[in-house]
Amino acid sequence: MKYHIISLGCPKNKVDSERFAWVMSSAGWKYCVEPDPSDLIILNTCAFIAPATEESLEYLSDIISWKGEKPGRKVVLAGCLPGRYRDDGSGGLENIDLVIGPGDWRKLSAWLGGTADAAAQVLGQGSYRYLKIANGCSNNCAYCTIPAIRGKFVARGLDTILMESDLLVQQGAREIGLVAQDSGNWQQNGTDLSFLAETLAARHPSIWWRLYYLHPLHFPCRLPEVFSKYSNVVPYIDMPIQHASDSILERMGRRHGVKTIEKIMEQLDSSPVEIAVRYTVITGYPGETETDFRALRDFLGRYRSGRHIAAFSWYPEEGTLEYSRAIARGDAVDDSTASRRLAAISAVGDALYADWDDRLYGRELSILADDRFTGHTMWDAPEVDAVVSFTQPVSPGSIIRSRITESSGAVLVAEPVN
Ligand code: SF4
Repeated sequence: MKYHIISLGCPKNKVDSERFAWVMSSAGWKYCVEPDPSDLIILNTCAFIAPATEESLEYLSDIISWKGEKPGRKVVLAGCLPGRYRDDGSGGLENIDLVIGPGDWRKLSAWLGGTADAAAQVLGQGSYRYLKIANGCSNNCAYCTIPAIRGKFVARGLDTILMESDLLVQQGAREIGLVAQDSGNWQQNGTDLSFLAETLAARHPSIWWRLYYLHPLHFPCRLPEVFSKYSNVVPYIDMPIQHASDSILERMGRRHGVKTIEKIMEQLDSSPVEIAVRYTVITGYPGETETDFRALRDFLGRYRSGRHIAAFSWYPEEGTLEYSRAIARGDAVDDSTASRRLAAISAVGDALYADWDDRLYGRELSILADDRFTGHTMWDAPEVDAVVSFTQPVSPGSIIRSRITESSGAVLVAEPVN
């Protein structure tokens, strides 16, 4: 029997899909890259924001049509979509054979009649993989649906994480990204994320370790020291700062002010290691004045370590605190202002890239080859940041010393050197 998985959304969902793959394989199912020859499709959905929900529903509709084309085909609906919109009994789920919440591999295993213990087991491939170090989030930001979908923050144990890291390395990973909704909050017996990064870097010295989703409130301040000590912990920080105005941060419920992020950025800029920061921000937040917006725009352009900006407009997400508050106060930012502000933030992002273009041009760097023709640098996360094109075919999964011969924003060209 063959199965196919469609994984939507972020790397955290990808990890859940890899665990589902392990469960399927333990129950004797074979993975199939194409949906057509498969007997079963798992759709692992994302429903964090309205566009993600819409995308998930479009996939679901296609898969239900696929099921109708041949008797005996089965559909498993997993992830945030059923986590967010629970079955209210009004119908519509009759074509789905199994509905499981985010990451609920136990329910999948029980349905298959298996006894898989997938606690530290994942099945996947590729030069870069992700390792989930915690589940859920307890921050309850005013605009966010995640705590309601995924529950409170629970750190995974060190032993489980180490076991899973060994497995990923055995399966051929050359880069492993540590992911969670709030990775900086990881702790165990008085140790923190810096300790975890050091432990993993020492255990697997040939692997690049990348840290994602570092909420400023839980930023591990020893991290620059870890970058200096372990060259395989890549000097890259993915930090959802969300805004740089005290009043907006307070309204978002972020529980820190601008001073906190200024202090972090100053520390990163003064590190002897060249660090790249990927900021995530929301503009057009309800109540955001022109002064608030300018504070955000100016902040983003200020620091040498800033390399990437992922900017979003605020979405009125049903079920969040801000959804009802913005309606009650009537102070949502109008669409054209929100679009203008988003475009202005995007221009700051272009300027950051232009500055890095000058810094990278002509340099010899280590580049991880993701396939024969493309790869990424230490300062760029795969799939979301700049892509490197090699001037000649290389061996996928290798780290290639190369000279940057062109650098233009999110596109770099590199010539392998002997
Ligand atoms: S920290 Fe992130 S996942 Fe947690 S509530 Fe805030 S935005 Fe949502």
